[in-house]
Amino acid sequence: MRLAAIFAVLTCASQSVAAPSVLTDMAPIHGLVSAVMGDIGAPTLLLPPSADAHSYALRPSDARALSDAELIIWVGHDLTPWLADPIATLATGATTLELLETTGWDRRELTHHDGEDDHDHGDYDPHAWIDPAVTAVWVGHIANQLADIDPANADSYQANAKNYATELEQLRDTLKAQLAPAAGQSIIWPHDAYGYFEDAFDLMSVATIADAAANSPGPAHIAQLRERTDVACVLADPEIGDRWTAVIVEGTSANTGMIDLMGANIPLGADHYINTLQAMADTVVACVTGR
Ligand SMILES: [Zn+2]
Repeated sequence: MRLAAIFAVLTCASQSVAAPSVLTDMAPIHGLVSAVMGDIGAPTLLLPPSADAHSYALRPSDARALSDAELIIWVGHDLTPWLADPIATLATGATTLELLETTGWDRRELTHHDGEDDHDHGDYDPHAWIDPAVTAVWVGHIANQLADIDPANADSYQANAKNYATELEQLRDTLKAQLAPAAGQSIIWPHDAYGYFEDAFDLMSVATIADAAANSPGPAHIAQLRERTDVACVLADPEIGDRWTAVIVEGTSANTGMIDLMGANIPLGADHYINTLQAMADTVVACVTGR
């Protein structure tokens, strides 16, 4: 009995030693890293899925998670400027991978400005994860970092990333076909965060309700949006809330919808990212077609 118990403890211990402690910033990135780690281990998630990435206050347990991490994988300071200092001061022993600073993909500049330039972001759009062609590149960088800190499992990380990148390319083709009815339709997007999705799937933006940092729009801007009569679909997202869309479409034939690029209602794990993109596409098609 006692010997069996000791063996059980040893087995557990050797398994937990095998997996590096990896911290991710938000649910879609947690999903990408989960897919690359496979059954080797699971990353932890800093932001609760329903949190607003643009304004979040770290809890004491978050500080502990940062100081315990061996590897931190995050989108970057352009999306979450508040996270840069805690990583620098609390995660002194960790390797960090800032995905927006990686190579092999094209950054897109912010194009929509609603007359207010004083937002928290840089000139580049930080919401880059919503193009599967971008994340197909990112998972290669994720696998390389994991292989660096955990060489024993390097082959598995690389194989998982390669398979998953193929899935992401397939997802892009599937969603492009599904979104074909929405191509060229006039859409008002919730905040200036969907450019990578628009570019990937030939979607059109006539305006955004809020700016890139999801600050509340002013009354003059809402009045302008209300004057548009050529719009097929007006979308809200959890970051700006659903209080603007009904006002904007009042008296028009436009439909409304709720889109979520963080996948707050999607179960966490290796399928989270693909399910989040699929749900985004479903929302756009339903909003544009009215079904
Ligand atoms: Zn945003």
